[in-house]
Amino acid sequence: MSLNDSWMQRDLAVLWHPCTQMKDHEQLPLIPIRRGEGVWLEDFDGKRYLDAVSSWWVNVFGHANPRINQRIKDQVDQLEHVMLAGFSHQPVVELSERLVALTPAGLERVFYTDNGSTGIEVALKMSFHYWRNSGRPEKQRFVTLSNSYHGETVAAMSVGDVALFTDTYKPLLLDTFKVPSPDCYLRPEGMGWEEHSRAMFAYMERTLAEHHREIAAVIVEPLIQGAGGMRMYHPVYLKLLREACDRYEVHLIHDEIAVGFGRTGTMFACEQAGITPDFLCLSKALTGGYLPMAAVLTTDRLYQAFYDDYSTLRAFLHSHTYTGNPLACAAALATLDIFAEDNVIEANKALAARMASATAHLAEHPQVAEVRQTGMALAIEMVQDKASRTPYPWQERRGLKVYQHALERGALLRPLGSVVYFLPPYCITGEQIDFLAEVASEGIDIATREAVSVAVPAGRYPGFRDPG
Ligand SMILES: *Cc1c(COP(=O)(O)O)cnc(C)c1O
Repeated sequence: MSLNDSWMQRDLAVLWHPCTQMKDHEQLPLIPIRRGEGVWLEDFDGKRYLDAVSSWWVNVFGHANPRINQRIKDQVDQLEHVMLAGFSHQPVVELSERLVALTPAGLERVFYTDNGSTGIEVALKMSFHYWRNSGRPEKQRFVTLSNSYHGETVAAMSVGDVALFTDTYKPLLLDTFKVPSPDCYLRPEGMGWEEHSRAMFAYMERTLAEHHREIAAVIVEPLIQGAGGMRMYHPVYLKLLREACDRYEVHLIHDEIAVGFGRTGTMFACEQAGITPDFLCLSKALTGGYLPMAAVLTTDRLYQAFYDDYSTLRAFLHSHTYTGNPLACAAALATLDIFAEDNVIEANKALAARMASATAHLAEHPQVAEVRQTGMALAIEMVQDKASRTPYPWQERRGLKVYQHALERGALLRPLGSVVYFLPPYCITGEQIDFLAEVASEGIDIATREAVSVAVPAGRYPGFRDPG
């Protein structure tokens, strides 16, 4: 038995994997990874895979990055953890100062949690609580876009709209206002991104006009709806949304958990709209993909609404045990150093252009409806019928074929349903991008070549995070 097989067997005897129908592994081998280096992951049999999705969008400067490794090693000898209530430490102070300086003007306070979903919970709770503390307790509801994703905990699911996750749990969820997304894949033929995004804002405007008295906040994934299939829109939507939120006295929550730290071509997506949200949620690439941590930044105005004598009970009494973990802060500080020292945002422009040119030919593929890109995220949408943009039935799991082909060729591509995408670490090279484009092209040819017959169980779920 190969080493891979033996680890797989031990794993499958005791583990329950995230976002996985475990029965799939009766056919689909699990890949135990022994080590990582740069863009590469290496399994126990010595096979290497180019990590084209940054291990679920977290890894920006490669695996086992020497600079991040060193910072964590130094930190672990100094202080591994201390509770953050009543105590503080150097890395958390330095990181908070750096985040405040780096993010748009007006974001002046940082609250930490230990993953993206809980960061969203904090923003929602703070917004709700702010209005209570400000004598507006009727402002309790949240507005969300269709096809959005904000995480897996119950309130985060409530503001999400990917049926695969939320439908089952519907009885548990908060009642939210759902507004059609500005998703430019759905724009009428001949219309540009800006025009479409602007036109779609009418739905948001109407919802806010009618219901603002009971609305606490609007939450969006700026520019890219990631888990919903890397659907993209124009920054003008965010600008209009900021103006409307000001007009209607509603908070604006930017979930930049996936898009923050350079993914859209600027350090933060909100920069492209020239706006400051009331809450900015960051996670994923925050620690360079090393350790789980999220940061929620907010304004002094928000903060002041909670600042009072203890007996007024206005404080935000929310905590996570590992809040502000020093090792995670150290990884984040090293990550921010690399952004600054290597002029990463500028250097990424050439890589983004290479991703565009390497995949341009796929737009002509008879089974590809669109190749779209925002900065360092590029997506290729496979469809059953190009003219009508009829999607493949999700049960056919065309994306899974691309995933399997890529693994054979030494690349980790993990399509979202029928959407093949690249979200690579920023240390990828031009040649490696060309290699990914070649593997993706082959995979798309294989996945779309033949008819697939499947026993179609009842349901209506698109693929999500799932390699199907
Ligand atoms: C991944 C993600 C989350 C959830 O983060 P977790 O750390 O997985 O809980 C929330 N919002 C967006 C936009 C994400 O991509």
